[in-house]
Amino acid sequence: MTSVRTRFAPSPTGFLHIGGARTALFSWAYARRHGGQFILRIEDTDVARSTPEAVQAILDGMRWLDLGWDEGPFYQMQRMDRYKQVIAQMLEAGSAYYCYTTPAELDALREAQRARGDKPRYDGRWRPEPGKMLPAVPEGVTPVVRFRNPLEGVVAWDDLVKGRIEFANAELDDLVIARGDGTPTYNFCVVVDDWDMGITQVIRGDDHVNNTPRQINILQTLGAEVPKYAHLSMILGDDGTKLSKRHGAVSVMQYDDDGYLPEAVINYLARLGWSHGDDEVFSREQFVQWFDLDHITPSAAQFNTDKLKWLNAHYIKQSPIEALVADVTRRLSARGIPVAEGPDLAAVIALYRERVSTLVELADALAPFYVAPTISDELATQHLTPAARDALGKLAGRLGASAWDKAALSQAIKDTCTELGVKMPQVAIPLRVALLGVPQTPSIDAVLEVMGQSQVMQRLAAFR
Ligand code: GLU
Repeated sequence: MTSVRTRFAPSPTGFLHIGGARTALFSWAYARRHGGQFILRIEDTDVARSTPEAVQAILDGMRWLDLGWDEGPFYQMQRMDRYKQVIAQMLEAGSAYYCYTTPAELDALREAQRARGDKPRYDGRWRPEPGKMLPAVPEGVTPVVRFRNPLEGVVAWDDLVKGRIEFANAELDDLVIARGDGTPTYNFCVVVDDWDMGITQVIRGDDHVNNTPRQINILQTLGAEVPKYAHLSMILGDDGTKLSKRHGAVSVMQYDDDGYLPEAVINYLARLGWSHGDDEVFSREQFVQWFDLDHITPSAAQFNTDKLKWLNAHYIKQSPIEALVADVTRRLSARGIPVAEGPDLAAVIALYRERVSTLVELADALAPFYVAPTISDELATQHLTPAARDALGKLAGRLGASAWDKAALSQAIKDTCTELGVKMPQVAIPLRVALLGVPQTPSIDAVLEVMGQSQVMQRLAAFR
């Protein structure tokens, strides 16, 4: 049995977006599941649109998602000699031929076809056939090279996602495989690469379905083993329209910026078009054990931000505390907020991790522990009334002399309430606003405890 070899073959014309990341994940997982090899190939032949920054963004995205490749990255631009070599062999073997039709002639041809109501296509005027007289080679025209596509029969494959797909060869005209300047065209490079790299399963977006019959025909002509194909359906946005920039996060790295954990994004992407019964939450390892192409739905998958958030909240709860400490330290430092001198970060995270669905929300909630909050006028007017300030003053007196554990702190608040004849919230809410600039926090005694006596006293001093 040949071992499984899959590839992810992005064009570096933009970031690694959600659709690409899902394709990468499925290709990676399939190779891992079957103990095979996963290859990364950068399809950079569109020189006008490919950029080194996009290559870097793709590599960063793959690394962030921890989708490690076994071979590559291979760059198509570095394989030009190989493509040209195969083109030369095909010309030699007669499976490709020079075509001297000029762009102007092609336009005229298409025009005439349209006028007759026919589908515009190359008419094979330079295609050699036994006994056929070819036109005289015109002077000053650099020819393109065309693939001699079979004229009859069908080209068909059993798509691992979509089922049987057939195209009549009569529908496919002779594809240009090299331009006038000798550079190979996109579909041709893909064919040579999939062949040379021994790809066994091509897993890619279904925007490539129309390329597949041409690629299969060329592979067959070359005597190559034709891989299996799995064309993944597109991903729709939250609103049911095609996923686009309008839906916010384009790059997977944007999810990092927005406070998502790669584990959550992986789990989320895994369920975009693939299912294992009703399982929604599973680890990467579990996914690899379960993953197969049989349970991919041929219909479009719809993106659901709420579900991604829900998964992210789950992974934040599960995350090792050291990982959260490192992440929040990074985020707060980037905002110029030093965490080293304030309350113990791990303790503050423990208080908040169950209440947030992104790491940005976590950092937002934690920031006022490390830098005194600005209290909005609205909150001040509502909660820091003269009576509330008086209560905070009384409480500060008690806290100054209190032991610093939850029980003692809770008692100090209760005693203040009793002394003033007011209810708990009348002290606790102004206290939250005064300390953290927000009226809601986890249990106030726990907040006081982690914030520490000196910082609490210092902040309350402003309200005495
Ligand atoms: N480079 C193509 C793309 O980014 C993928 C080609 C393929 O997977 O065959 O859409």
